[in-house]
Formats: sequence, C-alpha cells, structure tokens
Amino acid sequence: MSRSELNYIAGEWVSGDSEVENRNPSDLSDLIGNFAQSSIRQLDDALDAARAGQKLWATTGLEARQSALMKIGSALMERSGELGELLAREEGKPRAEAVGEVFRAGQFYTYYAAEVLRQIGDTADSVRPDIEIDVRREPVGVVAVISPWNFPTATASWKIAPALAFGNAVIWKPANLTPASAVELTRIIADAGLPTGTFNLVMGSGSSIGQWLVESPKVDAISFTGSVGVGRDIAAAAAANMTKLQMEMGSKNALAVMDDADMSIAVACATGGAFGGTGQKCTASSRLVVHEAVHDEFIEKLVAATKVMKVGHALEEGTQIGPVASAGQLAANLDYVALAKEEGCTLLCGGDQPDKPHEGYYMNPTVFAGSRNDMRVNREEMFAPIACIIKVGSYGEALETVNDTAFGLTSGIITKSLARASHFRRNARTGCVMVNLATAGTDYHVPFGGRGESSYGPREQGRYAEEFYTTVKTAYIASGTPE
Ligand code: NAP
Ligand code: MG
Repeated sequence: MSRSELNYIAGEWVSGDSEVENRNPSDLSDLIGNFAQSSIRQLDDALDAARAGQKLWATTGLEARQSALMKIGSALMERSGELGELLAREEGKPRAEAVGEVFRAGQFYTYYAAEVLRQIGDTADSVRPDIEIDVRREPVGVVAVISPWNFPTATASWKIAPALAFGNAVIWKPANLTPASAVELTRIIADAGLPTGTFNLVMGSGSSIGQWLVESPKVDAISFTGSVGVGRDIAAAAAANMTKLQMEMGSKNALAVMDDADMSIAVACATGGAFGGTGQKCTASSRLVVHEAVHDEFIEKLVAATKVMKVGHALEEGTQIGPVASAGQLAANLDYVALAKEEGCTLLCGGDQPDKPHEGYYMNPTVFAGSRNDMRVNREEMFAPIACIIKVGSYGEALETVNDTAFGLTSGIITKSLARASHFRRNARTGCVMVNLATAGTDYHVPFGGRGESSYGPREQGRYAEEFYTTVKTAYIASGTPE
C-alpha cells in the first residue's frame, strides 16, 4: 500500500511543493510511498518556529528534557522490529542489521538523556582580586541536521539526540532516498512533548532544500554526514555566514593483515568490513593490505568465504548482503569494476549482478587482487561491495600504505604481535583504530570521527559531542565586600 507522507514544521504535518516516490531497492515493484518535498517558504517557517521553540526548550527544566529524550529512545528500542523492517525495505540492508540500527538509534537518546543532567561547568578565581569567574555551556541555538541514506536512523539520531539534550532546536533534512524512516522517527519525536517548533522535518533533495538550509543565516550550526564533495560546498556556504560546522564524510579505510595474523579472524574481519551493509559504510574496509607471507593463503580463504555470502532481498531470511541503495549507486559500482580491470587488477570473484526473482539493485561481493595503492580504485571512495588487495613485504610498508590516503576515518590491523598492535594504534593516521577487529563497528558512548578529508570540526558522539552542540560563556562577577 502506498501512502503520502508530509513534512513536520512548527508542530504541524504539512504537504510540500511536490512529492517523490520511494521504492524498495530489493524489489522495484514495491512502492513504499510518496514523500513531500519542502518549499523554500516552508523552510523559512521551520526556521522561525525553531528560533521560537529553542527559547522555550532551553528553559524547560532538566528533568522534563531528560524524560522527553528517554521517551524517544524507549520508543525506538521498543519498536525496533517494525521500524527496522521499514528501514530495510527502503534502504536495502538485511532486516537484522536494520533492526539493530533502530535499536542503536534509541540508545543515543537514552545516553544523551543522562547527559542532560551532567551539564556542569567550571569556576575560577580571576587574576584580579575579588572577582570570580564561572564558565558554562549554553545551547548554540538552531541546528541544521543533514544526514545520509546509509544509516538513515542512526546517523540522524547521533546528531538529533545531543542537539536536543543540550537545549537546541533542530531542522532535519534527511536523505531523499530514505524518507520513510525519517517520517517514523519524526512521529516519535513529535509525541515526546517538546515545545512547538523545537523539532522540524523538511524533506527534499540536497540541491534544493539542503542548499537553502546551509545558506540560511538563520541557522546557527550545521551537522552534516555525507560525501566529501557535498561537504566542501557546505563548508563554503557555512563560511559565508560564519555558521558553526561539523562534518563527517567519506573514507578509504584499510585493513592490514600481518604474517602472524589469525587467518580466521582476518577473513571474518575482511568480509564483514568490506561487504557488511553492501559496502556502503563510511567505515568499510575497501583496501586489504596483506603481508606477502600470508597473501596467497588469505586470498584463497577470503574468496571462498565471499563466494558463499548470500546476496538477496533485504527482508528474506538468511540474506547477508542486500541490494545497493539506488540505480545510480549500482551503475557507479559497475563502473568501478570496469576501472579496476582497466587499471590492471585481477578479478577473483563477483563484479557482476546475480539473477534474482525480483528486479532490484543487486551486486555480488567483489574481490580484486594485484592492486596498487596509487590506483584510482584505492584512492577514491567507492561505497560498494568491492575489496582490493594490496600486497606488501613488511609491517612498515603496511603502515605506510594504510596511511597513504587523503582520508582517515578508520583503520585496522590483524596481528598477534603486541609490539605491532601498539605501534599501529599509535601511528595509524585515522580517527578510529581497530586491533583484531573489523574497521566498521563503533560504540555510541565514545567519540567518532576521522582525520584528513574524512572529518571537519569537533567530534561526534559520547561526551565529546558537547563541544559542537554548546557554546562556552565565561562570566566575571565582582564579589565586593558585604556591609
Ligand atoms: P551525499 O550525497 O553527500 O548526501 C548526504 C546528505 O547531504 C543527503 O541528505 C543529501 O541530500 C544532502 N545534500 C546533497 N547535496 C547537498 C547540498 N548541496 N547542500 C546541502 N545538503 C546536500 O552522501 P550520500 O550519498 O547520501 O551518503 C554517502 C556518503 O556519506 C559517503 O561518502 C559516506 O562515506 C558518507 N558517510 C559518512 C559517514 C561518517 O560518519 N563519516 C557516515 C555515513 C556516510 P539528498 O541525498 O536528498 O540529495
Ligand atoms: Mg528508497
């Protein structure tokens, strides 16, 4: 059954200028619904409502703010089965991964509910006598949240939860590819009892509503997750208004497999890291940097494990790899397969589409050997179920190869050597480092972010999020002497 879904602006559900269709990438005959596209006038309404709502929200008592966040988090966790199924249907990740994502999204709200009560500042004596100083954090104001389609509920939630916890209002522009999960999350937030205008959903494309939003002088801060190219444009727009900015972007993460690696751990981390989420993770390990002493053995085991991975409909029992998210993504992936061949890589498995009963954007997990780190397939983010193997002769060469990238989100090493693990942990130029673990898979109570072109601005998640979602005020108070 298809339905028409609306924007949520100033506490009302409103239709937009036009609508877009949302189809299931596992089965294109399945129409999920039609979704409103916001007009620029609606964005302006949302921005004005957010300004008014933020003043009320910031002065709402801490326990009321805490319980609103608990309510949102609990609803997401309780309904993770049903909402995960909808997410899997519109995004294409296997149902279990989608259910896990919705549950995790709920945990961001319950985590930040606790942070509401932990907003404690600093005090100091002035260098001048009889003057006291207090340093406290205040909300930044109206926050624009712009999120991608690959983790549509979790990414949005790790931004919305701290934004609300620290007393800000939110204008959320979700990815146009995944509006259904955005509407469901908005329904839950709309039921949480926030002051009118504190939270607004404006659906539409990045080039229209997204661009208007980042250019607006009425926005105090922008939190963006998406591609580097879009990030550069957003940074330019933000600079024009001096808008506070935080961005998490693409990457080209590497997993190093050393000659002393436990091969079963290496293969499990490589397949999980490269093909989980159909390779559409900013933390995916698309470069596999392998010591020559175990290269042939690793390849043989990796290819055997990859060939048995079940590609299928996201809602079918046993599916390990769903379709890619869109026609454009699939075409780009197949172009990268052709490019890898042109660049001289050897295709070991995949590279093509499986036969399926439904029309969908399916692609087999793909392994290339014989790649070099200076090839385009090892420089550019593909966001595809494609892994390229780079052979190296030593630990030192592996570390150098891992670090030789414009990005720097995550990296990993598989080794039994404490010395190598410790050295790698300290010398990998990435924001997150994994030892004997896949490059993908992070927690919610600790900071997340990268270096180089992967990140810009303060860290997200855990207590570090306060840096972005608050602004510091230093107050000087002359104490005087009582009469
Ligand atoms: P994208 O094309 O950059 O889009 C991200 C978001 O920005 C979407 O909501 C998009 O809207 C919007 N947007 C596009 N153009 C815009 C503009 N000119 N102004 C304002 N907003 C604009 O990225 P994607 O294809 O959705 O997601 C994949 C990318 O996200 C990959 O590069 C991946 O590495 C990255 N990612 C990073 C992380 C991380 O934490 N580092 C996590 C997940 C994903 P529409 O799509 O509706 O047009
Ligand atoms: Mg869709």
